[in-house]
Amino acid sequence: MKNEAIPKMKSDPDKNSVFGHGFADVIDQWDWEETVSLVENATDDDVRRVLTKAATNKKPLTPEEFAVLLSEAADPYMEQMAAMSRYFTKERFGNTISLYIPMYVSNACTNKCVYCGFNHDNPFTRTTLTMAQVEEECRAIKRLGDFENLLIVSGEYPSLCGIDYMEKVLNVCRPYFHNLTIEVQPMRAADYYRLTKSGLNGVVCFQETYHREAYKKYHPRGMKSHFDWRLNGFDRMGDAGVHKIGMGALLGLEDWRGDAVMLARHLRYLQKRYWRSRYSVNFPRMRPSESGYQPKSIITDRQLARLTFAFRIFDHDVDISYSTREAPAYRDHILSLGVTSMSAGSKTEPGGYATSPEALEQFEVSDERTPHDVVEAIRKAGYDPVWKDWDAIFD
Ligand code: SF4
Repeated sequence: MKNEAIPKMKSDPDKNSVFGHGFADVIDQWDWEETVSLVENATDDDVRRVLTKAATNKKPLTPEEFAVLLSEAADPYMEQMAAMSRYFTKERFGNTISLYIPMYVSNACTNKCVYCGFNHDNPFTRTTLTMAQVEEECRAIKRLGDFENLLIVSGEYPSLCGIDYMEKVLNVCRPYFHNLTIEVQPMRAADYYRLTKSGLNGVVCFQETYHREAYKKYHPRGMKSHFDWRLNGFDRMGDAGVHKIGMGALLGLEDWRGDAVMLARHLRYLQKRYWRSRYSVNFPRMRPSESGYQPKSIITDRQLARLTFAFRIFDHDVDISYSTREAPAYRDHILSLGVTSMSAGSKTEPGGYATSPEALEQFEVSDERTPHDVVEAIRKAGYDPVWKDWDAIFD
């Protein structure tokens, strides 16, 4: 199969000459250390001022005000922040948690992300599902629950799972699920647009870290080593009219506070330019993987909760998603405090639902409960599980 997902590169791709416009053109106006110091140097007075502004609910917070709420100075205000987060979430989304499930279609990857078990140098047998196997997975997922939101995930191997492959996968999955989202290698805007014609509704991509220099250290080889190509991918999704754009950083690679503030800036930037799209954020913490890589910065449970509350106070409309990376008790506790969607019953290896292979997982799942058990926990918290919040007829 020909590689169609990646444009032919001229000279240095990080010069942005072939990657079009995007957030990469403006990100360098913010210094990383200064960004972190917005969080580190926030005072009790700053926190009170920001919370008072948020409570008036007249003007949205700026990313710099959001930074204040991430600080240790905000710790004594956790209960107040949790209450505000719950209030704003209920106001916008009601008592609902939307459910989704990931389907891994390939663990082949040309990249060498130092923290990932799927990285190119890890010697294990790679699997890329055939269309018949994809269909088997669809059927197996349907036996697990009433899922309508499917997240299709692959490693980044354009000659195996490029635009043509993904188009076929979408066409196989479409009769089974109303809402199809992909998490694959960044593509050209034209390719995203083409996939929307096969039922693509959403695209999720993790920038991993917004720290330009450190990014190169974690992504030494492969297409993913090009910071600008990845970062401008979100603009290409917006240009292509992707309905829902999912974003996040891998918390633990670099100082999580810097990445959280940059994520907030990135979200504001995209919302201004691509206002027709909806947005979701996810806060994955680094988990053990086959690579054996250890996180550089640890984000505690309490800090992750603060980040969740702060993000909801910062943006009332964004979908905040929690995956099965987090443990059951934590997910049950946070679900009524700002979260709007969760995965359940996840397998992170290709073919995991139909055949339960002994294949390598991308990361260890913490919440191993069945979808039925997760639904029970959501109901117990007084919330309604939502299997379907999009209809294929809107595509
Ligand atoms: S994080 Fe993604 S791109 Fe990087 S090695 Fe793993 S699967 Fe490949």
